[in-house]
Parts: sequence; structure tokens; C-alpha cells
Amino acid sequence: MPLTGIEIFKLLPKTNCGECGVPTCLAFAMNLASGKVELSACPHVTEEAKEKLTEASAPPILPVTIGVGDRALKIGGETVMFRHEKRFENPPGLAILIKDTMDEAEVNARIEKCKQFQYERVGLTLRPELVAVKAESGDATKFESVVSKVKQNSDCGIILMSDNPDILAAGVKVCADRKPLLYAATKDNLDRVAELAKENSCPVAVKASGLEELSELTTKLTEAGLKNIVLDSGARTTRQALEDQIIIRSAALNKKFRPLGFPTITFPCEMTDNPMKEAVIASMFVAKYGGIIVLSDFRGESLFPLLVERLNLFTDPQRPLATAEGIYEIGGPTETSPVLITTNFSLTYFLVSGYLETSRVPSWLLVKDTEGLSVMTSWAAGKFSADIIAPFVKKSGIRDKIKHHKLIIPGYAAVESGGLEEELADWEILVGPREGAHIPAYVKAWQP
Ligand code: SF4
Repeated sequence: MPLTGIEIFKLLPKTNCGECGVPTCLAFAMNLASGKVELSACPHVTEEAKEKLTEASAPPILPVTIGVGDRALKIGGETVMFRHEKRFENPPGLAILIKDTMDEAEVNARIEKCKQFQYERVGLTLRPELVAVKAESGDATKFESVVSKVKQNSDCGIILMSDNPDILAAGVKVCADRKPLLYAATKDNLDRVAELAKENSCPVAVKASGLEELSELTTKLTEAGLKNIVLDSGARTTRQALEDQIIIRSAALNKKFRPLGFPTITFPCEMTDNPMKEAVIASMFVAKYGGIIVLSDFRGESLFPLLVERLNLFTDPQRPLATAEGIYEIGGPTETSPVLITTNFSLTYFLVSGYLETSRVPSWLLVKDTEGLSVMTSWAAGKFSADIIAPFVKKSGIRDKIKHHKLIIPGYAAVESGGLEEELADWEILVGPREGAHIPAYVKAWQP
């Protein structure tokens, strides 16, 4: 059982030194009990106390890693019900289903999709992470052969799907070094699948008919020494599956109920035959609270929105994605190239720089640190006003790189042009377009 805040407090040094970021050991103990901090934040805990506190300091939903190396996927480790309370930690993995009854061309096409569907956005590469290989043929050799093909031709994490431990074992045999997720231990095969997971140090998913049975099975797995567990409540209707996700998250976080303190796997692919409905269901699980989301196929028109939704939900709401302040060279600018200024909200930066690249007009782009806020928001917050922009332009060193002294400010900050003309007396201030899409036409008409 997890320790209470007071029980944890009794084990802390009680010096109130504040090095953990809160003023007292009691406050730290309370935060630790609610999963808001990690024990490692206190450098003064004794080894003896550390041992006792291990249980209390573990996240209420244990993290599970599938795969190895750069492409390893970490799921779970969540500490809040709602993103605004702190942040969501580990984005759910998106998996494509490959059945061992599919013909070779279809299997190859699906493996290829895992490589093809990659998108650059705000400086990040968005892509799905997992391939779920399902044994439908009942033939261990066939399953093994498809798993082997996936392993050789894809660097994605692998989920092995079968209720038959012998077939799972055939799949594990060819990809154990990739630490696949074994799906699934059930009440009928629990001991053998647990043994397989233990022998190969693989994470294991447990599938049950309802949450009560799920809790019993995870308790047995943890008693057998397994901690890398993924939950499937067995629900395949949208409503029941959503309810189960919420109950599992709430039981783990609010009731500290360890048997449900693991990430989940969800199957939109088994809930509908309609690709659009499947995408909507998957989108629901991105928000609440899928750890893995298995799709019947990857389609660009639904995968891209899911990846963007995931990115948006799993960024820290208190820390917008930001680009470093500085001078950015777009397309090899010269001393006669236009100089534009914008804010360091990543989306703003990547849109503006993208439009400049599209224009093929080499340009200088000044990026002012506005704590990751967009032009309008930072201007409204007083972080992108003339008295802040001017010192930055002066210090940036852009004057040494150009012959002209013309500065193009965003259309949404037009009201600052008068102030900037006063602050930057030897510069000519030009008001650029409001919308990024109009930047190419604007800079193409540029005259130094
Ligand atoms: Fe107490 Fe440790 Fe925090 Fe210091 S760092 S206040 S000893 S919990």
C-alpha cells in the first residue's frame, strides 16, 4: 500500500532546508504522496528511508517501455487526471495492425506506411511508433515469419498478439531483443505468458472481462515479479471503453489503487468498420487516456490529425513550445536582404520561416524571446512592444550584417511602429502582413 503524506514525512530528514524546491519537509512529503514530485528531488534522504519510500515515490501509473534504443516508446507515468493540473507525461503510442493472414503485398505495404508517414511540425518529427502483429491464422510458423519480416524491415516497436502462449513464444523467439509487448495474458494463460515475459524481460499486456478481473490478474502478475504491465479491460464498445479508461486513471491516481496503476492499450480497430469513426474513437483515446492506440490501418488523412492532437495535448501547458532568441538566416541572406522580426512561439517561427523559404527570397529573421507567446498574445501581454523590441534589435548585431536599415514588423504589431521609429531612430519601420500566408508576396516586392 502507498504511504500517506504523514508516514512519508516521518522518514524525511525534517531539516526544512528547502533544497527540494518547497519550503518544508512536510510539504515535500505531501507532494510525494500525491505523485507530484519524485523522491530524488530531496538529496538528503537516507538509504534506509529510500527503500521504504520506493513504493510511495513510484508514479501512481507505472511507466512501461516497449522496444529498445532511440525508437523505444515509454508510456504511462502519468500523475494527473487533467492536463491543466500539471502536464501529461508520455504520449500514447499509435500502432498499425498487421494480421498474419494478410498477403505479402499487404504486409509489405503496411510496413512501408510506418516509414512513410512522418511529418515535420514545429521542428519536431511526428510519426507513429508501433506495429501490432496479430496471429489470426493459428499457425505459429506463419506468425513467426510475419514477425520476422516486421522486425527486419521496420524500426518500430512491436506488439505480439495472440492468446496462445505457444504462438506468442514463436513470435518472441525472433524479436526478443526488440523487447516487444506480449498481448495478452488472460485468466486462461496467465502463468505461461507471465513466464514468457519474465524469461525474455518483455512488457506484458493483460486482457480481462471487466475491471474486477483485470485487477485480479495484474495482482497475480505483480506477485509473479512483473511490473511492466499494460491493461486491456476488454471493453469494445465506445462508451464502456471510455468509462473504463476514466475509472482506471481515477482509481490509480485518486485512490492509489495499485492493481490498476498501469498504462492501457485500446483498440479502435475493433470498435467499428468505418475509418472515420475509428479516427474519432482514436482521437478520444488520445485525450482520455489510452497508453497505446491500435488502428486498423494508417491513413494520412486521419493519422496526421491524431499526431497533431497528441502533440498539442502532451506539450506542457505552462511552457509553450519556444524557439531560441536570435537571428535566423533563411536561404542565404546578403546585406541587401529583408529583415523581419517575429516572436519565439514555435508555431509562429516555423510558419514565418516556412513562408519565407517558400518565397525563395533570402531573408534575415529576428526572433525575439517572448516566452513562447505568439505575436498577438505577446503584444497584448506587453512582451512585444517597442521598448522591448528596440533594445533586442540593437543588441542582436543585425546592423553589422546589412546595408539598409529597414525592419519589417508583423502586421499584428503595427501599432508599435511609431514607438519603434522613436526607439530605433536610424531605422525605417515597415509594417508587414498580418497573415503569414501573405509574406511571400510581400517579400517578393522587397526593395532595399
Ligand atoms: Fe526536507 Fe529534503 Fe526538502 Fe530539505 S530537500 S526540505 S530535507 S525534503
